[in-house]
Amino acid sequence: MTTSYDHFNLIFRGGTVYDGTGDEPFNADIGITGDRISALGDLSTATANDEIDASGMAVSPGFIDVHSHDDFHVLSSPDVEHNTLQGVTTLVVGNCGFGAAPYESAAGRLGELFKLPPGVTPWDGYAGYLATIDQVKPSLNVAALIGHNTLRLDAMGDSQEVPPSIDQVTHMAGWVAEGMDAGAVGFSTGLVYEPGRFSTTDEIAAVATVSGGYRGVYASHIRNEGEGLLKAVQEAIIVGEMSGCSVQISHHKASGSDNWGAIERTLEIIEAARERGLHVSVDQYPYTSGSTRLAAVLQNGAFSDGSGGFGLVKAEDVLIATAPGYPSHEGRSLESFIKEWDLPPEDAAQKILDEAGDDVYVVLFMMDEGDVRRVMAHPTTMIGTDGIPVGSKPHPRAWGTYPRILGHYVRDESVITLPDAIHKMSGMPADKFQLAGRGFVKEGAFADLVMFDPSTVIDTATYEDPKTPPVGMPHVIVNGVPVVRDGVHTHARAGRALRLGLE
Ligand SMILES: [Zn+2]
Repeated sequence: MTTSYDHFNLIFRGGTVYDGTGDEPFNADIGITGDRISALGDLSTATANDEIDASGMAVSPGFIDVHSHDDFHVLSSPDVEHNTLQGVTTLVVGNCGFGAAPYESAAGRLGELFKLPPGVTPWDGYAGYLATIDQVKPSLNVAALIGHNTLRLDAMGDSQEVPPSIDQVTHMAGWVAEGMDAGAVGFSTGLVYEPGRFSTTDEIAAVATVSGGYRGVYASHIRNEGEGLLKAVQEAIIVGEMSGCSVQISHHKASGSDNWGAIERTLEIIEAARERGLHVSVDQYPYTSGSTRLAAVLQNGAFSDGSGGFGLVKAEDVLIATAPGYPSHEGRSLESFIKEWDLPPEDAAQKILDEAGDDVYVVLFMMDEGDVRRVMAHPTTMIGTDGIPVGSKPHPRAWGTYPRILGHYVRDESVITLPDAIHKMSGMPADKFQLAGRGFVKEGAFADLVMFDPSTVIDTATYEDPKTPPVGMPHVIVNGVPVVRDGVHTHARAGRALRLGLE
């Protein structure tokens, strides 16, 4: 740990460094030159243009949010405050089968989250999307997955319930090739959503094979997180084995109280696949509630027989997060509408959709705390927010995921250790998604860093008041530039598009 430099742009002095490997921390100063960490060690005689006193504080790699839906949000709100203020320096967008390209299918038909902001020119494929990221320059880095639902809309239009023709599969595969060539990091599905839920395993594997040729990831919101959970995990593994992709099971959970505990079995299935040589891992947000489109909950029969992808969901466990044009609906439970309108759950949900349109999002309380902890503690689990920062009462995970793990689950509950938590938030996802030069604190790596106080860091976002930043996390650096300083966003736009395997 010596250096030939004696002057830096920025030095973190006296911090405890958690380097992203999962190893025990060490004390070191961190010297930054340009966009890189240029020295690590005792820099007490060195000078710098800018210094941060890190004594008593933890300094770690910036967090990599492996499960983001901010594909368009990074363009319309490029400060991306909900993420940057909680220490996130890189997003992996394009999850659950919803991607940013081809543009027409992404923006035209997939709702409010996927609207192009004014002043940004539409792109065609992923080369264009990633170029647009570099042009707009959000405050953090963006890596992209290619979304199956989006490609299926593009290939098949409105005739979604039939299998695709050979030509239509070729059309989808062509877009995956375009995306992977452009630097996308893999391919995603969302098999509880339309149109993906009409697809077969063979179709998915055929299209995913293109991603496998680049050693890309297959990330899946699996077909069933309720009573069909085990089969759905097995399907994701089969797609990995058929396509050559490494597998990422998104927001891993057992949904619906009848299915709680099934996580023990899924983790065994995952471990067995890893022993066979398949790289399978999962991600998680640290809450017992999820959030999704109300239309999808209804389509999956969650209020009737519970055999669909969400299991059985009780109306009192559903909160309206976002209802375009009906802000007074937001924050209310579905149960309250059932009483007011004297309708059964399905009809009340349908009435809300009829009034407010398809872009209604809900928060669903459907997980077991024991399962959440079991998933968190598993060595294959990394962290993602699954944030959907729209409407007035979005799920608090969009603002609170990382500080909630560091404060609640690491410090207060000892579910995982701090070095392990940092590894799950940085080094592990950087390796999985082939984000070269990211995810670790070491000489030569990109200077994506976060400083926090392990004794005070905590989330403050709640279901009632979900858009609040954490405490105890004062500084966030992206590519050597402070984007959060003393807990305040600097409006620096230091992010860039990340391309598979390239620095
Ligand atoms: Zn999902």
